[in-house]
Amino acid sequence: MSLAYFKGAFVPLEEAKVSVMTHAFNYGTGIFEGIKAYYSPGPDELFIFRAEDHFERFRRNGRILKMYLRESAAELTAITAELLRRNGHRSDVYIRPLAYKSLEKVGVKLPDEHDVTIFAVPVSAYFDLARPLRTCISSWRRVEDNAIPGRGKICGAYVNSALAAQEARDNGFDEAIFLNEDGQVAEGSAMNIFMVRGGRLHTPPASANILEGITRAAIMEIARNELGIGTDIRSIDRSELYQADELFFCGTMAEVVAIGSVDHRPVAGGMPGPVTRQLQECFFEIVRGARPRYAEWLTPVYQSGEEAGGRLVGSACEAHV
Ligand code: PMP
Repeated sequence: MSLAYFKGAFVPLEEAKVSVMTHAFNYGTGIFEGIKAYYSPGPDELFIFRAEDHFERFRRNGRILKMYLRESAAELTAITAELLRRNGHRSDVYIRPLAYKSLEKVGVKLPDEHDVTIFAVPVSAYFDLARPLRTCISSWRRVEDNAIPGRGKICGAYVNSALAAQEARDNGFDEAIFLNEDGQVAEGSAMNIFMVRGGRLHTPPASANILEGITRAAIMEIARNELGIGTDIRSIDRSELYQADELFFCGTMAEVVAIGSVDHRPVAGGMPGPVTRQLQECFFEIVRGARPRYAEWLTPVYQSGEEAGGRLVGSACEAHV
Protein backbone atom coordinates (compact mmCIF):
# COMPACT_ATOMS: atom_id res chain seq x y z
CA MET A 1 0.00 0.00 0.00
CA SER A 2 1.36 3.40 -0.99
CA LEU A 3 1.14 6.29 1.47
CA ALA A 4 0.88 10.03 0.89
CA TYR A 5 1.57 12.92 3.24
CA PHE A 6 -1.78 14.71 3.51
CA LYS A 7 -3.13 17.19 6.06
CA GLY A 8 -0.18 16.58 8.37
CA ALA A 9 -0.29 12.77 8.43
CA PHE A 10 0.76 9.75 6.39
CA VAL A 11 -2.40 8.21 4.91
CA PRO A 12 -3.14 5.61 2.20
CA LEU A 13 -2.78 7.33 -1.19
CA GLU A 14 -6.42 6.62 -2.10
CA GLU A 15 -7.56 8.50 1.00
CA ALA A 16 -5.59 11.65 0.08
CA LYS A 17 -8.55 13.38 -1.62
CA VAL A 18 -9.80 16.97 -1.87
CA SER A 19 -13.32 18.33 -2.45
CA VAL A 20 -14.49 19.52 -5.87
CA MET A 21 -14.98 22.91 -4.18
CA THR A 22 -11.27 23.25 -3.38
CA HIS A 23 -9.99 26.64 -4.52
CA ALA A 24 -6.88 25.21 -6.22
CA PHE A 25 -8.97 22.70 -8.20
CA ASN A 26 -11.22 25.51 -9.46
CA TYR A 27 -8.59 28.18 -10.14
CA GLY A 28 -5.17 26.50 -10.37
CA THR A 29 -4.02 28.26 -7.20
CA GLY A 30 -1.38 25.79 -6.12
CA ILE A 31 2.35 25.44 -6.52
CA PHE A 32 4.23 22.21 -6.91
CA GLU A 33 7.62 20.60 -7.14
CA GLY A 34 8.99 17.58 -8.96
CA ILE A 35 11.83 15.83 -7.19
CA LYS A 36 13.50 12.58 -8.09
CA ALA A 37 15.01 9.93 -5.87
CA TYR A 38 17.44 7.45 -7.42
CA TYR A 39 17.84 3.89 -6.18
CA SER A 40 21.33 2.33 -6.00
CA PRO A 41 21.21 -1.45 -5.48
CA GLY A 42 24.92 -1.63 -4.39
CA PRO A 43 24.48 0.26 -1.12
CA ASP A 44 20.72 -0.53 -1.19
CA GLU A 45 20.07 3.20 -0.84
CA LEU A 46 17.57 5.66 -2.25
CA PHE A 47 19.09 9.11 -2.83
CA ILE A 48 16.80 12.15 -3.07
CA PHE A 49 18.44 14.62 -5.44
CA ARG A 50 18.78 18.18 -4.13
CA ALA A 51 15.71 17.87 -1.92
CA GLU A 52 16.40 20.97 0.16
CA ASP A 53 17.02 23.09 -2.94
CA HIS A 54 13.64 21.98 -4.32
CA PHE A 55 11.92 22.79 -1.05
CA GLU A 56 13.65 26.19 -0.79
CA ARG A 57 12.25 26.98 -4.24
CA PHE A 58 8.86 25.61 -3.16
CA ARG A 59 8.78 27.92 -0.12
CA ARG A 60 9.91 30.93 -2.20
CA ASN A 61 7.26 30.21 -4.84
CA GLY A 62 4.58 30.01 -2.17
CA ARG A 63 5.13 33.71 -1.49
CA ILE A 64 3.92 34.58 -5.00
CA LEU A 65 0.50 33.14 -4.10
CA LYS A 66 0.68 34.45 -0.52
CA MET A 67 1.19 30.95 0.88
CA TYR A 68 3.67 31.21 3.72
CA LEU A 69 4.61 27.63 4.48
CA ARG A 70 5.19 26.77 8.13
CA GLU A 71 7.54 23.89 7.41
CA SER A 72 11.19 24.69 6.66
CA ALA A 73 12.95 23.12 3.68
CA ALA A 74 14.78 20.79 6.09
CA GLU A 75 11.50 19.71 7.66
CA LEU A 76 9.87 19.10 4.27
CA THR A 77 12.92 17.04 3.29
CA ALA A 78 12.61 14.98 6.46
CA ILE A 79 8.89 14.39 5.83
CA THR A 80 9.68 13.27 2.27
CA ALA A 81 12.43 10.89 3.41
CA GLU A 82 10.04 9.44 5.98
CA LEU A 83 7.34 8.99 3.32
CA LEU A 84 9.74 7.11 1.03
CA ARG A 85 10.96 4.96 3.93
CA ARG A 86 7.43 4.08 4.95
CA ASN A 87 6.63 3.20 1.32
CA GLY A 88 9.83 1.11 1.21
CA HIS A 89 10.63 2.15 -2.37
CA ARG A 90 13.46 0.19 -3.97
CA SER A 91 13.30 1.76 -7.44
CA ASP A 92 13.66 5.28 -8.82
CA VAL A 93 10.85 7.48 -7.54
CA TYR A 94 9.25 10.74 -8.66
CA ILE A 95 8.12 12.88 -5.73
CA ARG A 96 5.36 15.45 -6.09
CA PRO A 97 4.95 18.04 -3.31
CA LEU A 98 2.01 20.42 -3.71
CA ALA A 99 0.96 23.44 -1.66
CA TYR A 100 -2.54 24.49 -2.59
CA LYS A 101 -5.28 26.90 -1.63
CA SER A 102 -7.58 24.61 0.28
CA LEU A 103 -10.56 26.93 0.91
CA GLU A 104 -13.80 25.26 -0.19
CA LYS A 105 -15.63 28.33 -1.41
CA VAL A 106 -16.12 29.93 -4.83
CA GLY A 107 -14.55 33.33 -5.49
CA VAL A 108 -11.31 34.35 -7.17
CA LYS A 109 -8.86 35.83 -4.68
CA LEU A 110 -5.91 34.45 -2.81
CA PRO A 111 -7.45 33.09 0.40
CA ASP A 112 -5.09 32.29 3.27
CA GLU A 113 -6.15 28.68 3.79
CA HIS A 114 -3.65 26.26 2.33
CA ASP A 115 -2.35 22.72 2.78
CA VAL A 116 0.76 20.82 1.79
CA THR A 117 0.64 17.31 0.37
CA ILE A 118 3.40 15.02 -0.91
CA PHE A 119 3.06 11.80 -2.85
CA ALA A 120 5.60 9.62 -4.62
CA VAL A 121 5.37 7.25 -7.58
CA PRO A 122 7.91 4.73 -8.92
CA VAL A 123 9.26 5.81 -12.33
CA SER A 124 11.54 4.67 -15.09
CA ALA A 125 13.40 7.02 -17.47
CA TYR A 126 11.11 9.61 -19.14
CA PHE A 127 13.09 9.78 -22.39
CA ASP A 128 15.14 7.12 -24.15
CA LEU A 129 18.57 8.76 -23.83
CA ALA A 130 20.01 6.89 -26.81
CA ARG A 131 17.50 8.62 -29.09
CA PRO A 132 17.93 12.39 -29.35
CA LEU A 133 14.66 14.29 -29.34
CA ARG A 134 12.89 15.70 -32.36
CA THR A 135 11.76 19.14 -31.30
CA CYS A 136 9.86 22.08 -32.76
CA ILE A 137 9.39 25.71 -31.84
CA SER A 138 5.97 25.88 -30.27
CA SER A 139 3.26 28.09 -31.71
CA TRP A 140 2.39 28.81 -28.04
CA ARG A 141 4.44 31.48 -26.26
CA ARG A 142 5.83 30.97 -22.75
CA VAL A 143 3.69 32.53 -19.98
CA GLU A 144 4.76 36.05 -19.08
CA ASP A 145 5.97 37.00 -15.61
CA ASN A 146 3.31 39.71 -15.43
CA ALA A 147 0.53 37.28 -16.37
CA ILE A 148 1.32 34.00 -14.57
CA PRO A 149 4.93 33.90 -13.33
CA GLY A 150 6.65 30.91 -14.94
CA ARG A 151 9.28 30.83 -12.21
CA GLY A 152 6.49 30.13 -9.70
CA LYS A 153 5.77 26.54 -10.75
CA ILE A 154 2.12 27.47 -10.33
CA CYS A 155 -0.37 24.69 -11.09
CA GLY A 156 -2.52 26.80 -13.41
CA ALA A 157 0.52 27.86 -15.46
CA TYR A 158 1.00 24.28 -16.60
CA VAL A 159 -1.90 24.65 -19.03
CA ASN A 160 0.73 26.57 -21.04
CA SER A 161 3.12 23.59 -20.90
CA ALA A 162 0.36 21.08 -21.68
CA LEU A 163 -0.73 23.02 -24.77
CA ALA A 164 2.81 23.14 -26.11
CA ALA A 165 3.72 19.53 -25.29
CA GLN A 166 0.48 18.19 -26.81
CA GLU A 167 0.80 20.29 -29.96
CA ALA A 168 4.36 19.02 -30.45
CA ARG A 169 3.28 15.39 -30.09
CA ASP A 170 0.24 15.85 -32.33
CA ASN A 171 2.60 17.19 -34.99
CA GLY A 172 4.96 14.20 -34.69
CA PHE A 173 7.65 15.75 -32.49
CA ASP A 174 8.88 14.58 -29.08
CA GLU A 175 9.02 17.97 -27.38
CA ALA A 176 8.36 21.66 -27.82
CA ILE A 177 10.66 24.65 -27.34
CA PHE A 178 8.94 27.79 -26.11
CA LEU A 179 9.86 31.29 -27.23
CA ASN A 180 8.81 34.08 -24.90
CA GLU A 181 6.79 37.14 -25.93
CA ASP A 182 10.08 38.87 -26.92
CA GLY A 183 10.66 36.07 -29.43
CA GLN A 184 13.69 34.75 -27.51
CA VAL A 185 14.24 31.10 -26.62
CA ALA A 186 12.82 30.26 -23.18
CA GLU A 187 12.70 26.50 -22.43
CA GLY A 188 10.93 23.21 -23.11
CA SER A 189 7.48 22.35 -21.74
CA ALA A 190 8.99 21.15 -18.43
CA MET A 191 12.74 21.35 -18.96
CA ASN A 192 15.46 23.94 -19.40
CA ILE A 193 17.53 24.19 -22.56
CA PHE A 194 21.29 24.46 -23.11
CA MET A 195 23.18 25.15 -26.31
CA VAL A 196 26.83 24.22 -26.93
CA ARG A 197 28.51 26.78 -29.15
CA GLY A 198 32.18 27.70 -29.49
CA GLY A 199 33.16 25.29 -26.71
CA ARG A 200 30.93 26.95 -24.12
CA LEU A 201 27.44 26.36 -22.78
CA HIS A 202 24.74 28.96 -23.33
CA THR A 203 21.37 29.05 -21.61
CA PRO A 204 18.58 31.66 -21.35
CA PRO A 205 18.48 33.90 -18.27
CA ALA A 206 15.92 33.75 -15.44
CA SER A 207 14.32 36.87 -16.95
CA ALA A 208 13.39 34.92 -20.12
CA ASN A 209 10.32 33.57 -18.22
CA ILE A 210 11.94 30.22 -17.53
CA LEU A 211 11.64 28.10 -14.45
CA GLU A 212 14.99 28.46 -12.72
CA GLY A 213 15.73 24.75 -12.78
CA ILE A 214 17.63 22.91 -10.08
CA THR A 215 19.05 20.58 -12.74
CA ARG A 216 20.05 23.65 -14.80
CA ALA A 217 22.07 24.93 -11.84
CA ALA A 218 23.59 21.47 -11.29
CA ILE A 219 24.59 21.17 -14.97
CA MET A 220 26.39 24.53 -14.88
CA GLU A 221 28.33 23.42 -11.82
CA ILE A 222 29.14 19.98 -13.24
CA ALA A 223 30.25 21.48 -16.58
CA ARG A 224 32.60 23.87 -14.79
CA ASN A 225 33.99 21.34 -12.29
CA GLU A 226 34.26 18.24 -14.43
CA LEU A 227 34.64 19.50 -18.01
CA GLY A 228 36.19 22.93 -17.41
CA ILE A 229 33.37 24.46 -19.48
CA GLY A 230 31.75 27.75 -18.48
CA THR A 231 28.19 28.88 -19.18
CA ASP A 232 27.02 32.13 -20.73
CA ILE A 233 23.60 33.01 -19.37
CA ARG A 234 22.17 35.15 -22.13
CA SER A 235 19.25 35.65 -24.51
CA ILE A 236 19.25 33.11 -27.33
CA ASP A 237 17.69 33.65 -30.75
CA ARG A 238 15.64 30.97 -32.46
CA SER A 239 18.04 30.80 -35.42
CA GLU A 240 20.98 30.11 -33.09
CA LEU A 241 19.32 26.80 -32.27
CA TYR A 242 19.49 25.84 -35.96
CA GLN A 243 23.25 26.54 -35.95
CA ALA A 244 24.15 25.07 -32.54
CA ASP A 245 26.99 22.57 -32.16
CA GLU A 246 24.87 20.67 -29.62
CA LEU A 247 21.60 21.21 -27.80
CA PHE A 248 20.17 19.43 -24.79
CA PHE A 249 17.32 19.67 -22.31
CA CYS A 250 17.65 19.14 -18.60
CA GLY A 251 15.19 18.81 -15.76
CA THR A 252 14.12 16.51 -12.98
CA MET A 253 12.05 14.29 -15.28
CA ALA A 254 13.98 14.95 -18.49
CA GLU A 255 17.35 14.45 -16.71
CA VAL A 256 19.92 15.32 -19.40
CA VAL A 257 18.72 14.50 -22.91
CA ALA A 258 20.13 15.42 -26.31
CA ILE A 259 18.08 17.34 -28.87
CA GLY A 260 18.59 15.75 -32.28
CA SER A 261 16.66 18.26 -34.37
CA VAL A 262 14.78 21.54 -34.20
CA ASP A 263 12.09 22.24 -36.79
CA HIS A 264 13.42 19.37 -38.94
CA ARG A 265 16.98 20.76 -38.90
CA PRO A 266 19.45 18.18 -37.50
CA VAL A 267 21.65 19.19 -34.57
CA ALA A 268 25.07 17.54 -34.14
CA GLY A 269 24.23 15.15 -37.00
CA GLY A 270 21.17 13.94 -35.08
CA MET A 271 23.38 12.20 -32.47
CA PRO A 272 24.13 13.14 -28.84
CA GLY A 273 27.21 15.41 -29.04
CA PRO A 274 30.38 14.89 -26.95
CA VAL A 275 29.63 17.58 -24.35
CA THR A 276 26.07 16.29 -23.87
CA ARG A 277 27.35 12.72 -23.49
CA GLN A 278 29.97 13.68 -20.90
CA LEU A 279 27.43 15.67 -18.91
CA GLN A 280 24.97 12.77 -19.02
CA GLU A 281 27.65 10.40 -17.75
CA CYS A 282 28.63 12.66 -14.84
CA PHE A 283 25.00 13.43 -13.99
CA PHE A 284 23.93 9.79 -13.73
CA GLU A 285 26.96 8.88 -11.61
CA ILE A 286 26.28 11.79 -9.27
CA VAL A 287 22.56 11.08 -8.75
CA ARG A 288 23.25 7.44 -7.86
CA GLY A 289 25.86 8.39 -5.28
CA ALA A 290 28.98 7.36 -7.22
CA ARG A 291 30.74 10.74 -6.95
CA PRO A 292 31.53 11.64 -3.30
CA ARG A 293 32.29 15.25 -4.24
CA TYR A 294 28.56 15.79 -4.76
CA ALA A 295 27.38 13.87 -1.68
CA GLU A 296 25.82 17.00 -0.23
CA TRP A 297 23.32 17.06 -3.12
CA LEU A 298 21.90 13.72 -1.99
CA THR A 299 19.65 12.78 0.93
CA PRO A 300 20.10 9.05 1.62
CA VAL A 301 16.62 7.88 2.61
CA TYR A 302 17.38 4.65 4.45
CA GLN A 303 20.58 5.82 6.17
CA SER A 304 18.95 9.07 7.32
CA GLY A 305 16.16 6.93 8.85
CA GLU A 306 18.69 4.94 10.86
CA GLU A 307 20.41 8.13 12.01
CA ALA A 308 17.09 9.51 13.18
CA GLY A 309 16.39 6.25 15.00
CA GLY A 310 13.39 5.68 12.76
CA ARG A 311 11.87 8.98 13.92
CA LEU A 312 11.41 12.14 11.93
CA VAL A 313 14.07 14.81 12.15
CA GLY A 314 12.84 18.28 13.09
CA SER A 315 10.32 19.45 15.63
CA ALA A 316 7.68 20.67 13.15
CA CYS A 317 7.51 17.22 11.58
CA GLU A 318 6.85 15.64 14.92
CA ALA A 319 4.10 18.18 15.54
CA HIS A 320 2.34 17.48 12.23
CA VAL A 321 2.63 13.73 11.88
N1 PMP B 1 11.09 24.30 -16.77
C1 PMP B 1 9.84 23.93 -16.43
C2 PMP B 1 8.69 24.69 -17.00
C3 PMP B 1 9.64 22.84 -15.57
O1 PMP B 1 8.40 22.48 -15.23
C4 PMP B 1 10.76 22.12 -15.09
C5 PMP B 1 10.56 20.92 -14.20
N2 PMP B 1 10.48 21.26 -12.85
C6 PMP B 1 12.05 22.56 -15.45
C7 PMP B 1 12.17 23.64 -16.30
C8 PMP B 1 13.27 21.90 -14.89
O2 PMP B 1 13.43 22.25 -13.55
P1 PMP B 1 14.13 21.29 -12.49
O3 PMP B 1 15.48 20.99 -13.01
O4 PMP B 1 14.16 22.06 -11.24
O5 PMP B 1 13.29 20.06 -12.42
